[in-house]
Amino acid sequence: MRYSNLFAPTTKEAPKDATLPSHQFLIRAGFISQYGSGLYNFLPLGKIVFDKIKAVVKEEMDKSGANEIQMGVVTPADLWRESGRYSIFGKELLRFQDRKNNEFVLGPTHEEVVVDIVKNRITSYKQLPLHLYQITTKFRDEARPRFGLLRGREFTMKDGYSFHKNEASMREEFAHMEQTYTKIFTRLGLDFRAVDADSGAIGGSGSKEFMVLADNGEDDIVVCEKCSYAANVEAAKRAKQTCQIEPPQAEFAKFHTPTPVKDSIAHIATFFKVDPFYTIKSVIKKAIYEDREEIIAFFIRGNDTLQETKAQNACGSLDLVDASEEELLSIGLIAGFCGPLKLPEDVQFFIDEELRDEKNLICGANEDQYHFVGVHVVNFNEARYKDLVAVRIGDICPCCGASLGITKGIEVGHIFQLGQKYASAMQATFLDEFGKSQAFYMGCYGIGVSRLVAVMIEASHDEAGCIWNKQTTPFMLDIIISNIKNESDVRFATDLYENLSASGFEVLLDDRAERFGVKIKDFELMGFPYALIVGKGLAEGKVELVDRKTLEKTSLHVEDLQAQLKELLS
Ligand code: ATP
Ligand code: MG
Repeated sequence: MRYSNLFAPTTKEAPKDATLPSHQFLIRAGFISQYGSGLYNFLPLGKIVFDKIKAVVKEEMDKSGANEIQMGVVTPADLWRESGRYSIFGKELLRFQDRKNNEFVLGPTHEEVVVDIVKNRITSYKQLPLHLYQITTKFRDEARPRFGLLRGREFTMKDGYSFHKNEASMREEFAHMEQTYTKIFTRLGLDFRAVDADSGAIGGSGSKEFMVLADNGEDDIVVCEKCSYAANVEAAKRAKQTCQIEPPQAEFAKFHTPTPVKDSIAHIATFFKVDPFYTIKSVIKKAIYEDREEIIAFFIRGNDTLQETKAQNACGSLDLVDASEEELLSIGLIAGFCGPLKLPEDVQFFIDEELRDEKNLICGANEDQYHFVGVHVVNFNEARYKDLVAVRIGDICPCCGASLGITKGIEVGHIFQLGQKYASAMQATFLDEFGKSQAFYMGCYGIGVSRLVAVMIEASHDEAGCIWNKQTTPFMLDIIISNIKNESDVRFATDLYENLSASGFEVLLDDRAERFGVKIKDFELMGFPYALIVGKGLAEGKVELVDRKTLEKTSLHVEDLQAQLKELLS
């Protein structure tokens, strides 16, 4: 490609809302352009990168034995009603009507459509397993579209769906996809981890996320400093927390405890001279369900924090929001003085499982200005105990006993074991070995293909711009003609460009009538692995090679130049 033919509108300034390097540089270097909130175009350079990533994903998916298909983006609402998700998916699901008032959604994910494809077409266990995938557009009306391609509203996903006769076969494909994803992200040159994850709105049992480690990641991932344990903080486990300090010994009693509502745990711990470990903290939330709202109390140790996704899973709500003091009062709860004992009847509550059978604790007495001491957490219904707390840095690894740390990650892939959830709801069945009708077992597997374009840059950039790796760069080499008026320079650079291109190398020839400074700045911003400067030195038979990563310059002799470059670029 000659730069004079290339459409790559570079700018000095980034848009105001672009806070992350990938967002800033991809726009400034002319790889993408924004045309609405969470809506982006891929311009020529961005499109090359996007296609390269897509090709790696496609190649590995095809090798894995999956079949590529293409489903429509517009989906009849009735399919979503069949699965039961039409009413529970929330506002991310864009709903609309056609001229005959038929209802539709723009597909944010395609479980419903793919089940409909397979239903009545796969009828026997002999036709299983089957894996169908596509690489297409998704639409999610994200509450906060931001960070450019990382969280768009329209984006491209590779989504695959597998169908199985039993759980064992489903698990096998899950493991096979974990390997396939590992190959894909390794080929893309990314530093990633497969982590235990929460299954979210898609549902089902067992899921893993593929996280690229990056400072600007939106996800917190818990990693063991010693073994391979890694999990999203939403799903992370720890060995049970212990305390070196002796527990306070006291008979069960009610104490007058004048306490401000704010920081009540700290006050109570000081008041009774105990470690907050021995207090019970109550976190009261309003749970939003499809058809109702309910105030729910979550009880955890005083030195722990409620993990909201875990809490939401415990009560099965669509969302959890803060409850006001008035809302607490309306069901007889007093802010700052709630506890699991003597709760007003009908108040729904959950207790962190680490508190099970714990003794000598202090908690609110559900009476204004009073706390209980000498509390034993016993005799609660088994269903009240749930994992509710956020794992912290320094907690103990549940696998090996070493210390846990937390790092930031960007989710680039997610694989799920769905079980029979969707097939049962949509009555998609096959006949098993015994002639019995069974719902399909399913797995589903996503990769954020357009998000990956930005992830490449979050993972690799400097102050001047992008630093593409060889696997995904639009061009390997940028031949810069430093003075376009010098005919012999132009001839030499053009010959070299034509020769390398003819040999299949991806080369850009910067033949613009621009100053050298502009050209080198654009090279640094766009971030191709190498630039070759053809300029003054040519008279002495010398050109200069720039390594984008280090910005180091090496002088090369024109004799033997092609062979040297071919070796470097291969
Ligand atoms: P997130 O937690 O980041 O919102 P998700 O868990 O909702 O993602 P999945 O339903 O698992 O996403 O979708 C599969 C993949 O699609 C994700 O791993 C991610 O890489 C990508 N993806 C999801 N939402 C977006 C988005 N708004 N913009 C770009 N890519 C996305
Ligand atoms: Mg996910």
